[in-house]
Amino acid sequence: MNEYSEKVIIDEDEIKRRVAELVISIADDCPGGDLVVIGILKGSFIFLADMLRLMYLHNLRPQVDFMILSSYGSSTIPSTMIKIERDLSVNIEGKFALVVDDILDTGRTMLYVKERLKWLEPKMIKTCVLLDKPARRKVEMKADYVGFEVEDRFVVGYGLDFNGYYRERPYVAVLEEQPEAE
Ligand code: 5GP
Ligand code: MG
Repeated sequence: MNEYSEKVIIDEDEIKRRVAELVISIADDCPGGDLVVIGILKGSFIFLADMLRLMYLHNLRPQVDFMILSSYGSSTIPSTMIKIERDLSVNIEGKFALVVDDILDTGRTMLYVKERLKWLEPKMIKTCVLLDKPARRKVEMKADYVGFEVEDRFVVGYGLDFNGYYRERPYVAVLEEQPEAE
């Protein structure tokens, strides 16, 4: 079952510290304190929950909503099509919208969400990701708040999965294939 070993690249304490800093930056940019935090499921749920729990300390009053997106394509063509499986239910018109995702990879998901949200006429759209893999970018997309920049390697933990597993890990790790047993 366990063909992979995990190598931690960002530990629990580092994440905690960085999450606290990100919330301070967000509070600085959000005068008045009202915002709608929009999590992209499933990968963002742990990061989002940890940020939310610090927000009252900085006089932020978040509403929370989630979107579920799926991307599809064939195995030979990198998936460029994104479909909304669950849309927003909170009204963001005239509000400060903060989109939260686990990782910015090609950038297509975040670009798609930003374009979609513009139609709903928020006062401001800001984007926040735990991880950024700039080496993989396929579209022009920069997040306003980035936890950590990572190399071009597949990472798991703190919300990010491999085949549905590893999301619960309190750290971010890369998976290393184990040599086959003789
Ligand atoms: P993008 O649209 O930026 O290419 O894709 C972002 C999504 O791809 C992330 O929300 C995440 O679900 C998935 N993803 C990209 N890189 C990784 C990675 O290294 N590990 C995991 N677990 N998911 C990733
Ligand atoms: Mg995702």
